[in-house]
Amino acid sequence: MLHIKLGLGVVFLFLFGSFSAFATQDSLMIAKIYEHSFYKGEAYENLRYLTKHIGHRIAGSAQVAQAVDWSKGLMGQLPFDKVYLQEVKVPYWDRGAKEEAYILGSNQKLNVLALGGSVATPGEGITAEVIEVELLSDLRKYGDKVRGKIVFVNKPWDESLVETGVAYGLNSAQRSRGPAEAAKLGAVAYLFRSLGSGIDDYPHTGATRYVKGIDSIPAMAISAVGANTLHAALEEAPHLKVFLRQHSAWKGEVLSHNVIGEWKGTDHPEQIITIGGHLDSWDVGEGAHDNGTGTMGTLDALRTLMALGYKPKHTIRLVFYMNEENGVHGASQYGLQSKQNGEQLIAAIESDAGGFAPRGFDIKGGAEAVAWIQRSWKPLFEESYWVSRFLPGSPGVDSGVWGKHYPGALMFNFRPDPHRYFDLHHTAKDVFEAVDKRELQSGVAALASLLYLIDTHYEALPN
Ligand SMILES: [Zn+2]
Repeated sequence: MLHIKLGLGVVFLFLFGSFSAFATQDSLMIAKIYEHSFYKGEAYENLRYLTKHIGHRIAGSAQVAQAVDWSKGLMGQLPFDKVYLQEVKVPYWDRGAKEEAYILGSNQKLNVLALGGSVATPGEGITAEVIEVELLSDLRKYGDKVRGKIVFVNKPWDESLVETGVAYGLNSAQRSRGPAEAAKLGAVAYLFRSLGSGIDDYPHTGATRYVKGIDSIPAMAISAVGANTLHAALEEAPHLKVFLRQHSAWKGEVLSHNVIGEWKGTDHPEQIITIGGHLDSWDVGEGAHDNGTGTMGTLDALRTLMALGYKPKHTIRLVFYMNEENGVHGASQYGLQSKQNGEQLIAAIESDAGGFAPRGFDIKGGAEAVAWIQRSWKPLFEESYWVSRFLPGSPGVDSGVWGKHYPGALMFNFRPDPHRYFDLHHTAKDVFEAVDKRELQSGVAALASLLYLIDTHYEALPN
């Protein structure tokens, strides 16, 4: 049936015919993009290869080098004008053998993961009493008692927030600053309740950092179940001891790469629209939602436009950034290089919030531009495709970093449904099976549609 093949949005347009000719043309193109993505999308199968054949890929690892080569080959199969690697030096942190943690005496095992960047436990491990707080600032009242102890920060996730990224942000400084704060008071290790939604026995890793001049103490995340177990045990026996052992270490600098594909524009080839996401992941699970879906999704968005015979007016550059998770060196390098080369980076789309059903985009741009997008583009998405969030907001982490050199660039941060992302973010649960094909391809269509709109209407946008 024709009306189904064309998509509901087009039917609405024919029925209510109140849109301009441009809007109709845009609606037709977007309907074609969605149809192609659902019928002929390739993001899901590419994601299968990345996750199942290459697997997790922390910056500096052999797996990430394999992911770089494979991605370059994948881009090479498409009609890009140029596919190349951009050199980036990255610090390589290695987890080493599996961590161990248990409550002494009871031998109650606790599931933990070293936090990214952490040092190893000294000698055969650490055995010490525990001081539990919700907030680092609560440590002050313990003063000297912190010396020689394990500091355990046990702040539960705020389950009331639909915007789970905010819940993450509320507590992430305690992960990054915690070890240094605890070490200042003489603590011997830092145990952090995992930054994730839901209660299960999977610890969530993530980056932490030390402060120069303060002792570096081992830092690890404990699962929510483990944190509740330890909390209950401490209520019964406040002087119980916990054993911790981990083997993680920095292994120096490694040469790695951003992977870049360029599709030259016809009218304004010197003006560049960047789209992409980070290729590296944490070293647990398979880096499926974070960020296999972001890289394979943006690649497939470009492939979709190519397959539909679209000719971009501006140069479109696909960038797979290296090392977002523990340094953001890839995005820094991209920004520096672009600035040195005098390039005009005018707009960006980043996908790094998972591959769940698309809900919209956060926009960093002038108020008039955002209002224009809300008025002109949002109606093209919201009724037919259930994509309705077009709000002022922050760019993605990588675009934000290179964007410092390009304050005028219009930036879009892809926003899939946030409910389940932090159930699996940075855990062993972030695997291919956690991604739904239809949701992923729906996201690809939203990305391709937005890319098409930016490229087609950039000159009409108010500054
Ligand atoms: Zn990510």
